[in-house]
Amino acid sequence: MNVVDDPELSSFIFPAIIDRSPLIVAVSSAGHAPVLARGVREQIEALLPARLGALARFMGRHRKGVQRALTAGGRRAFWERIVRGSVGTQVLQGQEAQAESGLRRELRASQLTTPQAGDGAALGEVYLIGAGPGDPDLLTLRALQLLQQADVILYDRLVGEAVLDRARRDAQRIFVGKESGERGQQDRIHALLVELASRGKRVARLKGGDPFVFGRGGEELEILQAHGIPYTVVPGITAALGAAAASGLPLTHRRLAQSVTFVSGHGHEGEGALSDWRFFANPQHTVVFYMGVAQLPRIVARLRAAGAAAEHPVAIIERATLPQQRVLRGALADIAALAAAQQVEPPALLIVGAVAAVASVEALAALADPKSVSEAVA
Ligand code: SAH
Repeated sequence: MNVVDDPELSSFIFPAIIDRSPLIVAVSSAGHAPVLARGVREQIEALLPARLGALARFMGRHRKGVQRALTAGGRRAFWERIVRGSVGTQVLQGQEAQAESGLRRELRASQLTTPQAGDGAALGEVYLIGAGPGDPDLLTLRALQLLQQADVILYDRLVGEAVLDRARRDAQRIFVGKESGERGQQDRIHALLVELASRGKRVARLKGGDPFVFGRGGEELEILQAHGIPYTVVPGITAALGAAAASGLPLTHRRLAQSVTFVSGHGHEGEGALSDWRFFANPQHTVVFYMGVAQLPRIVARLRAAGAAAEHPVAIIERATLPQQRVLRGALADIAALAAAQQVEPPALLIVGAVAAVASVEALAALADPKSVSEAVA
């Protein structure tokens, strides 16, 4: 008998359930505070990977085989390496074929050495994680899950304390920030990744925004592949998307812009063809310049030379999604002077195009009224 809201009359209580069948977690307050139990369930729900059930089934399928292959003493250490290591990560990512061969490899290694629990002989792995634009609540669930299990965290200058606070408390933290283009530092990062993973560590390589958007994630991946180190890439919210959301500036808009480009503002090699800049100069196309603060006058000059009007809208979003966020709005004619007067500093993004004029709640509201669109843009 269960009477909702009356534990006295009930002979059992429905707990709040987290269902990752065959794995089930139930949270009960013994009828005292069902709302609290549901709140706890929501928190646990967010921490547990969606494919945890698949991992439980995967382990179940191999249970018999492992029982035959290993002595009772070796089995527990083996399963711990599976759950905590790259095989487990692969199952949770839906890469079961790779996980199958990983498990067979681990099994052969265990039969040869019968390592003890905690033995560092096994190969570690690297998580290449996008930390988002700064606000820790903009981390993905997968980023949080992997940050909870990483032994070592290599992080950049763009990764703030608030994000690091979400990682495992006892994880070792190594700052590997660098000034742009500092070649030696990137080599040091590569060496560290390989060395730590080879010693069996689970290494979180934490990068601002998304690892594959101006993040040199591709180079690190090549190194890991070359050394046969298992890795996982976790996308992050790139600064452009964080800045757009935090300043109410839609990157595309049915009436104002039909396309968007992310461009690196520095890198002299990346000047781009004049035809590209003519395309950027079209206000119906949104251009987001990363790393563009120092190059602002040069960017403005190039856009003007490619045909952009003096009143072509520009917005600068500094420290997007962080408490110190600032949004400046102007036009090509005055934005460089404005940025200098306001002492804009990196990290900041430059958003160029008709949508940049609507970087305010009021302007967005005005868009609801088609007549005022042209005014907002003008
Ligand atoms: N991988 C990162 C980009 C790294 S390049 C990403 O996907 O966001 C570094 C540049 O990103 C900075 O110079 C700046 O232009 C931009 N950037 C990163 N975080 C930012 C933030 N919180 N606000 C504004 N710009 C940011």
